[in-house]
Amino acid sequence: SDHALEYPPTPTAYEWSKLYPAFEGTGKLPEFADVGCGFGGLLIALAPLFPDTLMLGMEIRVQVTQYVAERITALRLTEPPPTPESTTPQTLHKPYQNVAVVRANAMKFLPNFIEKAQLSKLFFLFPDPHFKARKHKARIISTTLLAEYAYVLRPGGIIYTITDVKDLHEWMVTHIEEFPLFERVSEDSLRREGHGGVIDAVRTSTEEGKKVERNKGEKWLACFRRIASVRS
Ligand code: SAM
Repeated sequence: SDHALEYPPTPTAYEWSKLYPAFEGTGKLPEFADVGCGFGGLLIALAPLFPDTLMLGMEIRVQVTQYVAERITALRLTEPPPTPESTTPQTLHKPYQNVAVVRANAMKFLPNFIEKAQLSKLFFLFPDPHFKARKHKARIISTTLLAEYAYVLRPGGIIYTITDVKDLHEWMVTHIEEFPLFERVSEDSLRREGHGGVIDAVRTSTEEGKKVERNKGEKWLACFRRIASVRS
């Protein structure tokens, strides 16, 4: 089924202005990536918090990707509340220009879309758990894939993970902590550094997160910083 997936040979070959027309000519590239973005709740929540930062959702399901793309198109047409005292042209206030989605198998083609050290944030929110042991290699966090995540994240960049499956949480923590280029960072210290809005969105904005809430399930959050080089 990958034959139907379209992906660029390199990130620079991609026509980013198709996804972010309002940013054409700025040379900006996505700085946040939401891997397995599902219905796009995180992107929609973060868009107004970082209006000048480009964000990319990557989703493997065709219809879900189309839904997110249409959702973003509709949101882009909405008018922001008037700001009478502002002298900035109204077009610059048009919201949701900074979020977009691509259909992609992120486990295979992340480096085709994202360059080295391009990202400051990488999200894995409620990833598919793949419960059975023989299916663990299908998990989105693995040693091989962590090398790719370290490659696309800049030093200081942050991986956010959250799940309602305790076993998967422990799996992600163990694998990421064992990887030499990541160190765990507590929710408290991220909040002190000003990432509280992002953490709130990670916990509550996605469709899967809302479902867990409705079912009164527990959520396990774990965040990791990409360090500059291997500790000696
Ligand atoms: N993050 C969203 C949320 O919190 O609502 C969706 C969570 S859902 C349980 C997992 C999503 O990951 C699904 O939409 C699935 O299609 C997507 N997915 C699974 N494997 C993927 C892959 N290799 N590349 C991109 N997306 C993938």
